[in-house]
Formats: sequence, structure tokens, C-alpha cells
Amino acid sequence: MLDADFFRRWMAATAASVEREAERLTALDSPIGDADHGSNLLRGFRAVSAALEKEDPRTPGAILVLAGRQLISTVGGASGPLYGTLLRRTGKALGDAAEVDEAQLTAALRTGVEAVMALGGAAPGDKTMIDALSPAVDALDAGFGAARAAAEEGALATVPLQARKGRASYLGERSIGHQDPGATSSALLIAALAEANGE
Ligand code: ADP
Ligand code: MG
Repeated sequence: MLDADFFRRWMAATAASVEREAERLTALDSPIGDADHGSNLLRGFRAVSAALEKEDPRTPGAILVLAGRQLISTVGGASGPLYGTLLRRTGKALGDAAEVDEAQLTAALRTGVEAVMALGGAAPGDKTMIDALSPAVDALDAGFGAARAAAEEGALATVPLQARKGRASYLGERSIGHQDPGATSSALLIAALAEANGE
């Protein structure tokens, strides 16, 4: 079973990997964006860490709802409301259970990813965070390690795609040949899930 400590570890591992990878995320956002993805997520996940420490939510659902709210209110870019929605809706779907199993987390994350698709209008293949998140959720039945591999593969597979959503879509064909920054950070979020599970 996955308890509140697991979800705290997930958010902490995500925050740590955003700290490590912020420069790379911003560099990826430079040819096909406005070079702020790393700094956006740094600001967002620092706020998440601070809020979790201050408010000390006790259930998996409350942890993700609080984290999502911080991302929505502190990240200026498109990714803030999208990541915020992902975590908030996933948290809401978990309800107020003290512990959840992996199947419940998978179902909740699927709800969260669908909410991101509804908010941003992106489908798989549009060269966005959905290209990492959607295959990760599909692979989650096979475990966290499989989800991590699927997310990384999905992020790499954005390179030859033409962006159809977000800032990168303004570039048309010139968006081809670059890895999507949001898909890359989504792979970090999913890798942190495996890390929280000791994998
Ligand atoms: P901004 O584009 O406002 O500068 P960020 O640089 O923080 O915001 O985030 C850019 C990332 O957000 C993109 O790489 C992409 O993965 C994701 N993104 C942008 N628009 C959408 C959308 N409509 N649906 C899903 N993801 C999106
Ligand atoms: Mg940007």
C-alpha cells in the first residue's frame, strides 16, 4: 500500500530532480519556447516543498491537492496550470483514504492526465507533456519501473514530432527535431514515482 509518506517522497524526489535538471529543461525550452521551463518548475516545486512542510497534509489525496494548488498559483507559464491540474485532479480522485494501492493510483493518475488533456486540448502526438504522461499511465499496470521507461521513451519520441499545442506550435515545422521540455519534465515526475518506491 502507498501511504502519505510515499506521496511526500514522490513530491520530494520530483523537487530534487527539478533542482538537478532545471538548466537542461530551460535549455530544451530555448529553441522551441521562451527558455523558462526549468525556472518555472523550480519556482513551482520549491513552493510545493514549502507548503507541504508548513501545512503537513496527512493523506495522499490532500498532499497532491496541495501540491497542485501551489503549482497553479506560483508558475506563470502554461505548464503550471497543466501540472497543477494533473496533481490536483489525481489527488481529488484519491479521496481521503489514508493509503491507496497501485491500481487506485493508476486510475487516479489517468483521471489527472485526462483533465490535463481537457484543459490544454492536447492529444498524444501533439509534442507536449501528454506524450510522456499518457504512455506512463498505460504502463503503470506493469509497475513503476515500466512507467518510468515508457515516460522516458515518450519524451524522446517527441523529437521528430511537429508541435500542435503550446508555444512551440507557433514555430510550425521548425519545432521538428527538438525534444519537448514538458514531456522531458513529465518523465522526471514519473521517474520520481519509481524513486519514491525505492526503484
Ligand atoms: P510556457 O510555454 O508558457 O513558457 P513552460 O515553458 O513552463 O510554459 O512549459 C512548456 C511546456 O508545456 C511544453 O513543452 C509542453 O510540454 C507543455 N504544454 C504547453 N501547452 C500545452 C497544452 N496545451 N497541453 C499540454 N501540454 C502543454
Ligand atoms: Mg516556456
